[in-house]
Amino acid sequence: MSVRTVAVTRIGSLKATDEAARGRIEVIDLPEPDLGPEDVRVRVAYSAICGSDPHLAEGFFGTDVPIGLGHELSGVVEALGPGLRRTDLAVGDRVSGNFLRFCGSCRPCQQGRQQFCEHIQEYNRPGMSETITWHESQLYKLPHSVSLLHGCLLEPVSVAVRIADKTRVRVGDRVAICGGGPIGQLALQVMARYGATSLTMIEPIAERRELARRCGAEHTIDPVTEDQEGRAREITDGRGFDVVIDASGSPRATRGLLDLAAQGGTVVYGAMYPTGHELPLDLSRYLYLRELTLTGLFVSPYAFPRAVQLLPHLHLDEFTRAVFPLEQAAEAFEVHLSGRYPKVVLRCNEFEELV
Ligand SMILES: [Zn+2]
Ligand SMILES: [Zn+2]
Repeated sequence: MSVRTVAVTRIGSLKATDEAARGRIEVIDLPEPDLGPEDVRVRVAYSAICGSDPHLAEGFFGTDVPIGLGHELSGVVEALGPGLRRTDLAVGDRVSGNFLRFCGSCRPCQQGRQQFCEHIQEYNRPGMSETITWHESQLYKLPHSVSLLHGCLLEPVSVAVRIADKTRVRVGDRVAICGGGPIGQLALQVMARYGATSLTMIEPIAERRELARRCGAEHTIDPVTEDQEGRAREITDGRGFDVVIDASGSPRATRGLLDLAAQGGTVVYGAMYPTGHELPLDLSRYLYLRELTLTGLFVSPYAFPRAVQLLPHLHLDEFTRAVFPLEQAAEAFEVHLSGRYPKVVLRCNEFEELV
């Protein structure tokens, strides 16, 4: 059996103006993995394009094509392996999940650091596909009030939860977020529920600043036309933000964020950065005198159960307005790159929505 799947079929930047050098996204037939004893086959409903997908097209994680894409998805359980241990899963259940399976046996897994699992890639399968076959440990059932369309956002929500974890925020802390893409917007909503104050979105695109306002931002800063540091001082009575989150991944933005942080504050670099990008760091100024904590994250283990709980409470409609059929994946990626919508979603199979 083979399944229609979105894949990178030529490595290169999707934005390259020279057609011969441009990366290529196509829908191709890939073999459907066997259903192992503890596996679950899911008929995919929706699969969202992630900001990291174009980096995969550039060969960030490897250059052997085809590279199947898609790790933000929802669907309906179609078949259960014969040795399933979970008793709460049945054919017809609406689910989402973690694209990574953690083995549970390697040293990092044993130490509670599943993000460094030595077998993390074994079940990382493309989700922009008619079906996906996952290990039972990767699946999460969607709450009754959450549609399949919203359910495909579980993985990005889990990233926002992990970002919140890494901030070690306390109720009432002043929080700024740089970058109004989907992760930044979701992190903003999560931080708002966490009791953040002076909640500020730093973002050059006006539509994204407005979206942040609608989703709970008290202030916005345009880093291009405004004096970012001056505005931050104004908003925080000259003290700076207790928590600063970068969700932009923009090398230009990374440096200035240290100057927005309050004494003893935390700066989370919560995006994917170009390999080799270096951040000059005045140790005396930022770590000695101001005791800043700088941190980052790779993936989001342990965050999924809480992300499932949050799904019904988040404003997600604006992230699911642009929906394309699977076969139009190439057009969908063009629209994604245009930045016209906060998020672009592929419909992989038609299901009747019950909510
Ligand atoms: Zn993603
Ligand atoms: Zn492991």
